[in-house]
Amino acid sequence: MGRAFVYVILGGGVAAGYAALEFSKRGISHGELCIISEESVPPYERPALSKGFLLPEAPARLPSFHTCVGANEERLTPEWYKEHGIELVIGTQVKSVDVRRKTLLAGSGETISYKVLIIATGARALKLEEFGVKGSDSGNVCYLRDLADANRLVDLMESSSGGNAIVIGGGYIGMECAASLVINRMNVTMVFPEEHCMARLFTPKIASFYEEFYKSKGVKKVDVKFFWNNMNFEWLLSCFRQNKFCTFLNRENIGSMVTAVNLRDGSSLPADVVVVGIGIRPNKSLFEGQLTLEKGGIKVNGKMQSSNSSVYAVGDVATFPVKVFGESRRLEHVDSARKSARHAVTAIMERNQVDEFDYLPFFYSRIFTLSWQFYGDNAGDVVHFGDFSGGTFGAYWVRKGQLVGSFLEGGTKEEYEAIAKATRQKPEVEDLAELERQGLGFALTVSQKPQPSSPPHDVTSSGIVQERPMYAFHATVGVVVAASIAAFAYRYGRKRRRW
Ligand SMILES: Cc1cc2nc3c(=O)[nH]c(=O)nc-3n(C[C@H](O)[C@H](O)[C@H](O)COP(=O)(O)OP(=O)(O)OC[C@H]3O[C@@H](n4cnc5c(N)ncnc54)[C@H](O)[C@@H]3O)c2cc1C
Repeated sequence: MGRAFVYVILGGGVAAGYAALEFSKRGISHGELCIISEESVPPYERPALSKGFLLPEAPARLPSFHTCVGANEERLTPEWYKEHGIELVIGTQVKSVDVRRKTLLAGSGETISYKVLIIATGARALKLEEFGVKGSDSGNVCYLRDLADANRLVDLMESSSGGNAIVIGGGYIGMECAASLVINRMNVTMVFPEEHCMARLFTPKIASFYEEFYKSKGVKKVDVKFFWNNMNFEWLLSCFRQNKFCTFLNRENIGSMVTAVNLRDGSSLPADVVVVGIGIRPNKSLFEGQLTLEKGGIKVNGKMQSSNSSVYAVGDVATFPVKVFGESRRLEHVDSARKSARHAVTAIMERNQVDEFDYLPFFYSRIFTLSWQFYGDNAGDVVHFGDFSGGTFGAYWVRKGQLVGSFLEGGTKEEYEAIAKATRQKPEVEDLAELERQGLGFALTVSQKPQPSSPPHDVTSSGIVQERPMYAFHATVGVVVAASIAAFAYRYGRKRRRW
């Protein structure tokens, strides 16, 4: 026995929240939509977990950052779902799905059936064990994917204040966590095997700016690239554990604690807290053998529809055609999760009478008092511009004579909008030296030119005008936290954060 719904969203993260709002805007009846999520709270803006949530003063806490505040829209509290007749089945893992029978089997034993399914299962953090490194089940080793992880990290930062934190990984999570750990007065060492931080996006020149900045905040970097070997964590030998508290503290996971991170070169980094951010894997296993997969995700068309016409996939788990790249990609960013979710709901409600999803990839990060945005693709020749000594600077990527990607640190709202619009237009670039000379002026000029050939949805579909993604974090954490960060920014002597 079980319940039946017209629409079921599997997963209760960012994409699920934005899909729910879109369903309600388009008008669904009470009892038609159900969201099933493993997490114990309704959808929230996940990026807040590595930013406002980790602040030592006036940190962001739910319900302040439930979706969809990150896009300056309604905040969907538990009451909102109730008022809108949306069934929220939280704290419930789905164990299996039968797309032929259109049913899901929940961990509770209940079978839930649907007419249309939206897969919004996101991704999980990669564990060190998957690379043969032991120790990550220790009480003071943290990953950061969900609220439970974030709560644990907060507890550890409080109990180890002034101690040593080792951050393993130099990507998004590593960079943002390292900054938060410093703000929480920990001695931070970052360990990563690539040539420089954010290696998937940053050029060496951009990375060196951020690495210097981190150094000025006291973050040490351990260079382990010599031991990096094709996705094997050979550089990281083990996390050394001592059964320090096992018989004294009767708390789960506090039984054994990592005391050091040992590297293959024989060095050992003393650790009170270890934060691991080494990548994610999309949660697609429920659909293996049932739906077509591509590039690690569930393959969908420009309407976010999978190889089964009743099943859609959105967010981190979906591999969709990215028109501006001319190929399918799976993106791991919040803006893409929000917009792909809305697009899927539009396609479902309009019975697929919608344009293909035309998305300009966008991502951002905020660290200390710095913030950057990136649009498009980081492929081709790179041209840097601006003031790398601490002012506004950026880079363009030019492929086959066209601008395909733009990065900007420290821009104004108008400047971010300009690089977004310019990247969307893919203007021709004949002379790289001239592009360098013009710098940001190039994007500002291009973005002001009328675009007779572009359909109006081009710009709004990537959120350049409708939303203010730069401020997503601010919206996420609310006014109280904004004030606290402003105070922090002041303390760190850089008052150029714009809300
Ligand atoms: C700490 C952190 C900081 C980030 N910061 C940024 C940033 O600054 N900028 C940026 O662009 N992006 C950022 N991201 C990435 C962004 O949050 C993701 O791209 C986005 O959350 C993806 O949304 P989603 O709905 O696809 O997946 P998620 O938000 O991960 O949601 C997936 C949901 O599905 C549930 N689920 C999975 N399997 C099951 C199952 N079998 N049964 C029931 N429920 C299930 C999960 O529990 C979860 O609730 C950050 C991510 C993290 C973790």
